[in-house]
Parts: sequence; structure tokens; C-alpha cells
Amino acid sequence: MVEGNHRNTQAIINLKAIENNIVAERKRMSQEQKLFAVVKANAYGHGIIPIAKVAERAGAAGFCVAIVDEALALRAAGLDETILVLGVTPTNQACLLAENKISVAVGDLGYLQGALTYLKDTDQKLRIHLALDTGMGRIGFRNKEDLNEAITFINNNRNKFNFEGIFTHFATADSADEEYYKKQITTFNDLMSVVKKKPRYVHVANSAAALWHRECSGNVVRFGITMYGLNPSGEALELPQTFKAALSLTSEVAAIKQIGKGDSVGYGKTYTAEMNEWIATIPIGYADGWPRCMQGFKILIDGQYCEIVGRVCMDQIMVRVPYSVKVGTEVTLIGENQEEKITALDVAKYAKTISYEILCGISERVQRKYI
Ligand SMILES: *Cc1c(COP(=O)(O)O)cnc(C)c1O
Repeated sequence: MVEGNHRNTQAIINLKAIENNIVAERKRMSQEQKLFAVVKANAYGHGIIPIAKVAERAGAAGFCVAIVDEALALRAAGLDETILVLGVTPTNQACLLAENKISVAVGDLGYLQGALTYLKDTDQKLRIHLALDTGMGRIGFRNKEDLNEAITFINNNRNKFNFEGIFTHFATADSADEEYYKKQITTFNDLMSVVKKKPRYVHVANSAAALWHRECSGNVVRFGITMYGLNPSGEALELPQTFKAALSLTSEVAAIKQIGKGDSVGYGKTYTAEMNEWIATIPIGYADGWPRCMQGFKILIDGQYCEIVGRVCMDQIMVRVPYSVKVGTEVTLIGENQEEKITALDVAKYAKTISYEILCGISERVQRKYI
């Protein structure tokens, strides 16, 4: 992979904001609850290792990731807290995971049976978090019989498995309508009735549940999007003011020219000037994670909102500016520029998606700079 270390298109990440967001959440939590920092997908595009390190400093007791490699990257960086892989992992990685003390989500008996054969080669136990599917429809046990069978299997193989946790995930914790959320809680409690001896970690809360359903049970908060300062609900529910966005996306004017009435800009000539206009070219495109559908959106140059004209290219965009701005002028695509501001949510709404997808879409080609 090639990183863009010699260009002025950068994601600037304010580590203090991340730290403050974690500290703020920990203040809201009860004494016995622990915070696991969700750093999957390169820490939602913020850079997995720097974010994990600042999270550790701010008091995170563990980490959640999506894939084995993310967990191994954290271990290689010297982080020794609990690491839970939230997704299903291949059974043939069981030995590697056990030896690196990485915990895995398990949603069916078949995984345990498969993993057992691979655990012959190690004297380390594999740490298991049983996933309960209470309504997300993604991974996990859906009925008491299957859950019971899995717990019995773990108990019969105690020399190979460490039953460390049990968890579920909500589909609508970010919604003002609580009906489905409550249904999931009821299902969760019902499934939990077969768990005679509770494991160390019982967890249900993502950012949204932690923000708006503090009554929900569990001793771990899996803190994701709000650690990065964003609202999991978009704008449906209110995010407390204490949480602040950590990421800005900036570039600079690489070229400036004047075009005349009737001149067009970009592939497919989807924009034609109606008069003499100044057009600035900015070195960021859809290969950097700036979506192709952003034509027409306004970004900030010199404190002014300037429209993206013509199609977004793979590596560049063209922007109509009110006057001949200097080459090298800073451009803000996400973040503050003079008195004005663009949020990841503004970009997401324009692209008809959620802020999560915009953040984790920022590619390796965009250098992360930490302040
Ligand atoms: C990604 C994920 C989270 C974090 O969700 P946020 O909305 O970012 O807080 C928590 N739990 C599970 C199972 C996840 O997959």
C-alpha cells in the first residue's frame, strides 16, 4: 500500500478530542462499567494505533475490532488490554488468536467445534464472547437451546476455552422510537436466563445505547462513533455538547484558472460556465474516499463556501471560486475554516449515507496527521 506522505491532502486528527470524548463518556458511566474503544476499520479512518494508544491513556480497558489482522496490529504495537474481534473469524485462526490472547465473538456451536481441533497445538485457552442475536439478524445465538448447547460444550472443554463474555448488539438504539430496542432487551434477558454463571464481561451498549439508553444492563460499553465525536443517530437524537469531532479533512488549491462562458469542466462535461468564472483544482478525489457523488456540494476556501463543479475525478476535484485564489490556499472538506464549518454529517447527508461511511472511507492515500 502506498501512503500519501508527500502531498498536502491530509486528515488531521485531534487526539485531545478523542481523549476528552473518552473521559466524558467514562464520567457518564457507572463505576463498575468498563469502556472498550471500538477501533475497527482503521479506527473509523482515524488510524488504529495512535487512536488505540490515546484511548488506553484515557482509560479504555479494552478494544473492539472487526478482523483478526486489526487485533494482531494492536498486539504488535504493544497494547495488552482485552481485544475482542466482533466479527466471525475463521476457525483455523483459533490457535493464533489464543496465543495472542485475542477474544473472539462466537455465534454458533459449529465455530467452537471447528476451533477445538486447531487448539490442539497450544496450551493457551481461546477467549470466547458468545454473541446473542436478539434482533440484529447478523451473528449470534437466537434461542436458548442452541445457547445452552454451546455453554455446555465450553464447560466440557474448559482446558481449551475461556468463557470470558456474552453480548448482543442493537439495531435501533439510535432511534427515537424505542419499541424494537425494548423488544431486544426482553429477548436478551430471556436468553440470559440460561446462563447460570455469568462471564466476566456482559455487554450490550454501542455508542447509541450508551448515550440514550443508560438504563440498559451490561458492564462494558463498546464505544465507537462517539469516541470520534460524532452522533450515531445523525441528527435524530441529541448528542451532548461535550463530545467533539476529532477529524478534519484538508487539502490545498493546486491550480487556478479563469474559464469563459460556455466552457465546460470535468468528465462528461456535466458543468458548463455561464459567465467568466474562476476554477480551482484541488488534489482529492474518490480514490481518497471523497465520494464521486459530491458534485454540487460546497467546500471551504478562504472562509467561503465554494461549489464543486464537474464530476469528482479519481484524484482531483474542480471548484468554482469567487476570485483568483492563490495556489497553496488551504481547503477544508471536513472541519473548520475561518468562521465556517463542514461536518462529516454534512458530507454524509449530501452523499446519502452516514458519517461512519465517510470517515472509514478516507483511504490510505490520505496522510493522517496528529495534533
Ligand atoms: C461497530 C460496532 C460497535 C460500535 O458502534 P458505534 O455505533 O460506532 O458505537 C459496537 N458493537 C458492535 C458489535 C459493532 O459491530
